[in-house]
Amino acid sequence: MAARDFDMIVIGAGPGGYVAAIRGAQLGLNVCVVEREHLGGICLNWGCIPTKAMLRSAEVFHLMHRAKEFGLKADGIGYDLDAVVKRSRGVARQLASGVGHLLKKNRVTVVMGAATLSGPGLVSVRSDKGTEELTAKAIVLATGARARELPGLEPDGKRVWSYKHALVPPHMPKTLLVIGSGAIGIEFASFFNTLGAETTVVEVMDRILPVEDAEISAFAKKQFEKQGMAIREKATVKRLDRAADKVTAHVEQGGKTEKIEVDTVISAVGIVGNVEGLGLEDLGVTIDRSHVVTDEYCRTGVEGLYAIGDVAGAPWLAHKASHEGVMVAELVAGGHPHPIRPGSIAGCTYCHPQVASVGLTEARAKEKGYEVRVGRFPFIGNGKAIALGEPEGLVKTVFDAKTGELLGAHMVGAEVTELIQGYVVARGLETTEADLMETVFPHPTLSEMMHESVLDAFGRAIHF
Ligand SMILES: Cc1cc2nc3c(=O)[nH]c(=O)nc-3n(C[C@H](O)[C@H](O)[C@H](O)COP(=O)(O)OP(=O)(O)OC[C@H]3O[C@@H](n4cnc5c(N)ncnc54)[C@H](O)[C@@H]3O)c2cc1C
Repeated sequence: MAARDFDMIVIGAGPGGYVAAIRGAQLGLNVCVVEREHLGGICLNWGCIPTKAMLRSAEVFHLMHRAKEFGLKADGIGYDLDAVVKRSRGVARQLASGVGHLLKKNRVTVVMGAATLSGPGLVSVRSDKGTEELTAKAIVLATGARARELPGLEPDGKRVWSYKHALVPPHMPKTLLVIGSGAIGIEFASFFNTLGAETTVVEVMDRILPVEDAEISAFAKKQFEKQGMAIREKATVKRLDRAADKVTAHVEQGGKTEKIEVDTVISAVGIVGNVEGLGLEDLGVTIDRSHVVTDEYCRTGVEGLYAIGDVAGAPWLAHKASHEGVMVAELVAGGHPHPIRPGSIAGCTYCHPQVASVGLTEARAKEKGYEVRVGRFPFIGNGKAIALGEPEGLVKTVFDAKTGELLGAHMVGAEVTELIQGYVVARGLETTEADLMETVFPHPTLSEMMHESVLDAFGRAIHF
């Protein structure tokens, strides 16, 4: 059978790949997307979406326990883990099937199977039906990533889980050890801790949520500890002894090794790019620590071959993948898109309390030689936060003292994952402190704290 020819072939239908495909089709390209497992990728099936559905159940559960505070009655509060998981899987299914409809609506050809690059512009797709050859002048790698496995700490699905196991847990942990306190580890720790698991988090770095501003990490840590979580920083899990009903973790901290016995471990020690078996080496693609090396336009250096999303490296975020997908599709269609600006991509962690940030931390700004002005505003000074019963939180802003440029914004507290986009827009528009101070924020809203934090950086905060 002759090879089917397209303008653009996208390998992988996650938020990078399917968005690239749709944008390409909108621009008149004849696009094919090849997917080996599930439309929507990790994000919709095993990442962003099902975790947020589970965390929502935990949030409602938490609020039900606080019913009395709000003048309400809720007796016999409990949960059904299977039902929580069923809801989460249903939400994931609904959204993944939505991707199928969107691709169809945009006349994108979907080929289910595992793709390999068998030569420049040539893709072979293997499936149960056999092997099919496809050709295109532009190929976009959007193959994503998977959980990193450290020797001796490998998930087995019984007592030691990866994020996939944790999303369809075979049992409710009574005692849980989470290895790694990045966004994924902390979200699962928050979920299971809220449902009652005695939770310990072990982090090798000197603080949890290590990419966040140090003040935000410290604030979040205090909140998690108040909720009963045990946090061990500068600690390493050296070994796991697995038994039928328990795991003994050998945790090294401060030169001493201690044994922690739990019934469940979640390993959340990072991710590795899906670069294997694609034929990349033969084409001369550069791979650095499991990620495809690209320039700011996602070009791999091989004519017509692009890499986007998780497979192209940090930050491993769905919105970064999608934005790169749009940019590459526009490039392939002959447009002149702007390259993505890594400093304007927000990071959000949907634990309780939530954490969100964009741009430089205070420490990083100083390392880069900026003289900074820092603003802070606590949730306790905000009317809406008090009315919501969410008085714990902090909004921190970091400005260049010389130019007034907003260098970074860092938040912890209720709904900050929704609020952060205000600062993202501000950074995108290169707003100064003066513009932000003159902006009128609606009252009563949590967003007023974003205003107050800016005012505070210049000694003008009103409500604190
Ligand atoms: C538990 C968890 C929670 C997360 N929460 C968030 C969050 O809240 N917000 C956020 O922004 N990010 C979150 N992420 C990260 C987010 O899921 C990823 O950044 C995002 O999915 C990356 O998109 P992608 O398109 O690059 O790759 P993926 O979503 O991984 O999609 C890649 C696709 O390529 C397919 N594929 C791979 N190889 C081949 C091949 N050879 N042939 C054909 N198909 C192939 C795979 O089957 C997959 O469907 C989370 C991740 C996890 C694990």
